[in-house]
Order: sequence, then structure tokens, then C-alpha cells
Amino acid sequence: MKILVPYSGLGTNSTYGMYRWLTETDHEVVAMFLDIYYSSDEYTAFEREHFVRGVDWLKKNTRDFEVVERVCERKYPPFYEPVREGSPFNEETSSSDNMRDTYAEVAEEFKVNAISSGKSGEDTIGSLHKSASISRRDSDYNYLHPSWSLTEEVTLENRDQVIKEMSSKWSQREKLPQGLRNIITDCQCKGKKIGCYFCSDLLLNELRPETGQELDDLILEKLCAGKFRHLANPKTFNGLSDRAYRYYELLGSNYPFDDNTEILEELSMKAQEMYNKAGNL
Ligand SMILES: [Zn+2]
Repeated sequence: MKILVPYSGLGTNSTYGMYRWLTETDHEVVAMFLDIYYSSDEYTAFEREHFVRGVDWLKKNTRDFEVVERVCERKYPPFYEPVREGSPFNEETSSSDNMRDTYAEVAEEFKVNAISSGKSGEDTIGSLHKSASISRRDSDYNYLHPSWSLTEEVTLENRDQVIKEMSSKWSQREKLPQGLRNIITDCQCKGKKIGCYFCSDLLLNELRPETGQELDDLILEKLCAGKFRHLANPKTFNGLSDRAYRYYELLGSNYPFDDNTEILEELSMKAQEMYNKAGNL
């Protein structure tokens, strides 16, 4: 068995996937870094640096695997669809089609049996068809989700159940060895941008008292995702755009941010401490 793992080096889901494939199976692994059309050169360089560190760490501490780097170009024009079934709000969704084509090309080239999907609990915030990758429907390839199972595929029949059971980033981080976790504990702003989404996401693990599993549940409930999808009001649900506010609420800062300058500055300091401890400052 051979598996293609899109691996950004900075993302929790893909890092968790790489770690699981390498330590829990004897499958051949191909780690793929994508230079994506919508990312700035500066951000791609930042991601690539973490990819290189992650590959080094994994090869040294687990086992060997292949590495490939590709450019993902925009083939499909911008496309808008409701953030969730019945929602009046739309979002641009062509990037997943563009990425899927690149995955399929590389999967063909490397003759893999399956593609590892980085979709996890927090990704089930949007419409059902974006919540999990269904084998052979989304491309000619099988998809497996390390957030749920390394062996069983998601189908239209089991999708609703899978969405309720997928793990999310917060419990995944807790399961990673410290060396690998230090690599993903980083943000371009280094804690300095007040109200930064990426910093708040990482701070939840750092500052909340809950275990990773408890955090997954707590945050998914706030996001109306996973087993809490039914809590969303379809008329007002605005999906991804609200995530940062929800995270900051859980960190003790209410919206609008203008009224919480002191708390936000304190969180910014705590983020800097977190990056310092992880060796990224
Ligand atoms: Zn940040």
C-alpha cells in the first residue's frame, strides 16, 4: 500500500496524518508540499521552512519516505456557493477543485493507492460535501482520513456518522511528540498581530484548562461543527468567517475587539511566550 500525503509542514492536520501513517502503518508514504497560487511568496517560504523541518524530524525519529514538491495553479475560475446548505452567505470554493486536480496528477505519477485527507472536525463547519472527501467521487482516487480511520473510507452512507466522530486539531496536537508539536507551534506574526486567527487557534491548547478531547468538543460546539452541526441557524450561519471571534471568546475576549484591548494585548504576550517555548521566536 502506498499513500500520498499533502503535507504543509505547518498545519496540525497534515502533521498528525504524516505521524500516524509513519508510526501506525508500514505503508509507503509520499509527502507532498504544494506551492499554492493563492499564497504569497513570503507565506509559501514560511510554510516550506516548516515542511523541511518536519520532514527532517520525521525521517530521523520515525522512518524514511519520499518527498515531492509541486505548484498548484488556478485551473478553475472563482466559484461561489453557500457556506452551508440553506445559508444566504456565499464563499469562494474553487481552491479545493484546483488542489484536487494536483493531488490526482501526483497520485497518478507516484502510483499511490490512496490520498490522505487533512479534513478534520473543524472542517465540518461548512456544507456536507466539503466536510469529508468521498473516495472515487471527488477524483479517481480513494481518500483516507487520519482524523477518523487509517483503513476505512468515507462513503455517502457513513458520512454523517464520520462527521460526528472525526478528531479535531486540539486533540491531534496533544497526541504529537513534543519535537513535532514545536514545529507547528508557529505563526508568521510571532504573536504580534492583535486578534490573529492562527495565534488564537494555537493558544486554545495552551491556555484552556481542558484536555485535547474536551477542547475538540467545546470548540466544535462553538463552531456548530461535527456532532454540533445541528446547532447552526441556517439563516444567520456565516461559517468560517466567525471562527476567530469564537476562538477569542473562548480565550476570554469578547467581540467587538475594540473594547478588549487589554485582554488582547495579554493574549499577544502569551502567544510570544508560547513561540519562545517552542523555539520559534
Ligand atoms: Zn499570529
